[in-house]
Amino acid sequence: MALIVQKYGGSSVKDLERIQAVAARVKQTCEEGNQVVVVVSARGGVTNRLVADAKTLHEQPDDREMDMLLSIGEQETIALTSIALHAIGQPAVSRTGAQAGIVTDSVHTKARLIDISGGDIPQQLNDGKVVIVAGFQGMNETGQITTLGRGGSDLSAIALAAALKADICQIYTDVDGVYTADPRVVPNARKLPEIAYEEMLELASLGSKVMQSRAVEFANKHDVPFEVRNSYNNNPGTIVKADITLEDVVVRGVACDKNQTKVVVSELPDQPGAAAKVFQDLSDAKVNVDMIVQNLGRDGIANLTFTVASDEAYKAEKAVTECLGKLGRGKVDLADRMAKVSVVGIGMRSHSGVASKMFTALAENGINIQLISTSEIKISVAVDLEKADDAVRVIHTSFDLDKE
Ligand code: ASP
Ligand code: MG
Repeated sequence: MALIVQKYGGSSVKDLERIQAVAARVKQTCEEGNQVVVVVSARGGVTNRLVADAKTLHEQPDDREMDMLLSIGEQETIALTSIALHAIGQPAVSRTGAQAGIVTDSVHTKARLIDISGGDIPQQLNDGKVVIVAGFQGMNETGQITTLGRGGSDLSAIALAAALKADICQIYTDVDGVYTADPRVVPNARKLPEIAYEEMLELASLGSKVMQSRAVEFANKHDVPFEVRNSYNNNPGTIVKADITLEDVVVRGVACDKNQTKVVVSELPDQPGAAAKVFQDLSDAKVNVDMIVQNLGRDGIANLTFTVASDEAYKAEKAVTECLGKLGRGKVDLADRMAKVSVVGIGMRSHSGVASKMFTALAENGINIQLISTSEIKISVAVDLEKADDAVRVIHTSFDLDKE
């Protein structure tokens, strides 16, 4: 008998029909001789609607009240799922995050996990019940409701699987798994049978949004293997784990983030500490800087270019303008929105030639590279937004990602 944690996201519980489909799958899993803990999200669209309601009343709603509000989305789903299971004769009981012993710090709307006791989940399982836990929510040490950041039900599921020492953690969503590229952009993208945590992390944070990044980070840190599956069919999904055996796969996938804006800082004094001041002020303003290029200084001035998420561009411009005021020279311009296209693969650690192959594919197709950044398992280029999809396609083909 295995203990299985199944997490169902918003699209998998969006209406009563889908909740009945979830109940049927859960019951089936029990009948195959397993104990099942279910973690659910709010029904698709509910959390966004609640956020919008709060923002209609107040420009900056209080964080504690937001947690009080947003946590009701998941609470609705646990009760409905439990009722749907009762209707088909499967004993089941719902638990809030607090009742499942999910304890967090007090940073409302993005709380961090401190401890997960599981509450009485083991007892309920031994009594033959399915336990349905509200994702996304926990409580702090004084009993206040907290939430784990948007998309946080993924983290609830992975962390519960670790705490309960589950044999399997399945993350059900509305796609079959993780693909070599976005199938809407690359029709011959393939579903990956397996992928390493770190690759998943890069692919997810680079815009191939399948799961909350924090959840994958947690799985990586605590080694909690999991499977991403489709709740709309029975296809095998993608297994995400520490090591992958396929030796000659160097590049696992191509990701694209179309939400980048280029910030150009010119005529900065070419002296030690100038860049440090600019980035310190950006960090104080909580702006996340991505790709950075500095040109060689000349005639006492240097130019600095970097990218930020487009919705932070004005915040970045303001922070840099203030910093340049203090430095006494330099100017800042926001350029057009750009796309960041990346190849990802842990095989890059032991293989060379990835960058040249990627750049050649772009060159042969007349796509200009504006910025480049690399890490141990990833190479990213910034290109014009209109060229982004083409770039993804030609890179995907050049690494034979469409072949088995
Ligand atoms: N309902 C929350 C959200 O929409 C958490 C989740 O779905 O994972 O962000
Ligand atoms: Mg989600």
